[in-house]
Amino acid sequence: MTHSKRGRVIAGNWKMFKTQAETRAFFAAFNPLVAGVTDCDIVIAPPSINIPAAVEATKGTHITISAQNIYWEKEGAFTGEISAGMVAEAGCRYVIIGHSERRHILNESSDLVSKKTHTIYSGGLIVIHCVGETLEQRDFKQTLNVIRSQLSELQRKIITDPSRLVIAYEPVWAIGTGRNATDQQAQEVHAFIRQTLGQMWNPDFASRVRIQYGGSLKPENAKGLLSQPDVDGGLIGGASLKADSFLAIVNAAASLT
Ligand code: PEP
Repeated sequence: MTHSKRGRVIAGNWKMFKTQAETRAFFAAFNPLVAGVTDCDIVIAPPSINIPAAVEATKGTHITISAQNIYWEKEGAFTGEISAGMVAEAGCRYVIIGHSERRHILNESSDLVSKKTHTIYSGGLIVIHCVGETLEQRDFKQTLNVIRSQLSELQRKIITDPSRLVIAYEPVWAIGTGRNATDQQAQEVHAFIRQTLGQMWNPDFASRVRIQYGGSLKPENAKGLLSQPDVDGGLIGGASLKADSFLAIVNAAASLT
């Protein structure tokens, strides 16, 4: 099964950027530019407080909104947290989980990432499960071990629909650094991810999971990375903040399908 059958997904991770007014202004400029793009899923993950504004601003378009994080419990005394049910009710279809900034800066453990992933999936949402090695781990040739271990956060018994699982391969050394993985480095890890998912579930399931590359993906390197056989899209930070650079990446993906 090829990208065209799995479909491609280009997602913008806005991290802690953009006010509500800037969110509205982005979509006012961006929506008409992608009105004709139908063969590539377009997702934006704004800060949670701006999810309602983003949902409102994308009504009637085929752009979907993602949350950047949730807590795994349904409700309770968890000050500052929001649940999967709350983001679904607000209009999100996707949730990013296990981003390296949450694993490394906010010290999220593998166990927590695993619980959150299954809460998202069980809540009917699409999981974007991020995996990726640090530079030190790459230098010590630990990349594939790290990826295998992060994929083991996923439970075969809970996740049964491959169309609601997206894996984002994001080498930590490439995020926000301007230094992207080469096409070959990305393809090597993506192929390993698909092979590992095939062992965890089965090859047919693995062939239906979309695997995104993330880490300094920008208009100049988009075509090369996105045309790799196991790269089905991108998770984009910096270049998703401006309508023209995000559009160029969406167009690169759409031109390949
Ligand atoms: C990210 O935050 O997921 C990311 C890939 O960031 P950037 O594109 O800025 O490297």
